[in-house]
Amino acid sequence: MPVPKRKTSKSRRDMRQSTKFIRPQSVTSCKQCDEPNLPHQICVECGYYKGRKVLSTKNDRGVKRMHIRAAAAQKAAQKEDQHAHGEHDGHDHSSHE
Ligand SMILES: [Zn+2]
Repeated sequence: MPVPKRKTSKSRRDMRQSTKFIRPQSVTSCKQCDEPNLPHQICVECGYYKGRKVLSTKNDRGVKRMHIRAAAAQKAAQKEDQHAHGEHDGHDHSSHE
């Protein structure tokens, strides 16, 4: 019967055991927004890594959309105003004719 030549040292045994159990994932907090994020990874909340913006996040896009919507709403309001004026003009024309 084959037998190991040497006793497995505590170090070697423990190194083997180190991959055997689930350990809690280490978590750091973002320097930019203090949200928890994984180490050595881009912050999902603000898109910063090592103090530099490297990713446009969902929030940023949401802000952009908000701006676009606001602009569209303003344009629509202006158009409505023009329509209102146009109607007034039309009434004036009808009165003239
Ligand atoms: Zn962040």
